[in-house]
Amino acid sequence: MNRLDEVIKREFGAGISVLRRTPVSGGDINRAYALDLSGGNKVFMKANSRSNIGFFKAEAEGLAALKQTGTVRIPEVIDAGEDGSSSFLLLEFIESGTRTKGSSEELGTGLAAMHMAAAEAYARGGKFGFSHDNYIGAGEQINSPRDTWTEFFIECRLLPQFERAAEYFDRGERKKIDSFLSRADNYLAEPDHPSLLHGDLWSGNYMIDRDGHPWLIDPAVYVGHAEADLAMTELFGGFDRTFYEAYRSTAGIDPGYKDRKDLYNLYHMLNHLNLFGGGYLYSVRSIINRYI
Ligand code: ADP
Repeated sequence: MNRLDEVIKREFGAGISVLRRTPVSGGDINRAYALDLSGGNKVFMKANSRSNIGFFKAEAEGLAALKQTGTVRIPEVIDAGEDGSSSFLLLEFIESGTRTKGSSEELGTGLAAMHMAAAEAYARGGKFGFSHDNYIGAGEQINSPRDTWTEFFIECRLLPQFERAAEYFDRGERKKIDSFLSRADNYLAEPDHPSLLHGDLWSGNYMIDRDGHPWLIDPAVYVGHAEADLAMTELFGGFDRTFYEAYRSTAGIDPGYKDRKDLYNLYHMLNHLNLFGGGYLYSVRSIINRYI
């Protein structure tokens, strides 16, 4: 019996097996399937090559941390494992439905509650970071704990991405970037309290179920400044006014956020530059120029 069958039997009963495997579209990186089980249950499976098990272990760890806050709906992790030449992640299946005003409100309130939940336990050895490094899309995300958000964001977010992107900048630009990084703390601010973040909060990473409830999926979790999650919701759109109003009335948004927003998103633009190439150079340069 292969490992996947073993897990299904362990979780759902000895007589249960996979009847059908239907591809699910929408992901960037992995193959995704709906698995129909003989007992009538359905589970969601992502698969990749065996060597990529680290992605799934990290995702499972992030989902479990978010779920522990008991705020936004997060799919239950059934297992992350290896099977022959593949690795897989098995999750509770979310039946997708239609977004309503109530969905946006619940997402805004839920995210705010998640950001207000106690986060100390997740970044041991500092206030900001996470227990392990993980991934932002296919890019490595460094989570070494730091005592201040400013240090963490510069040293573990901007700096490693700029180092990876060095080939895109000439000597003059690199000097400009070094000087920008040495002053970036002037543009950042410490949060009132550290927050557990989703970390990759674009509209493809939330789902609405059949009852209109929102769920968060595919995170790049760490403890940081809540504003960084909020900034990413604005980067590619897909979050409506009701969402922001609900968020603001629950957790509040500091007036200085609007001046810091692009700096948080510089991290994601640099990550896109490193993963997908020069098409993102213009966005990266225009953000840097705004802060120089
Ligand atoms: P990738 O890691 O490749 O980016 P995603 O986690 O974004 O993959 O998942 C791919 C697609 O599968 C999503 O866009 C969503 O439509 C669907 N999906 C993700 N998680 C679930 C789930 N737990 N149940 C049902 N469908 C899901």
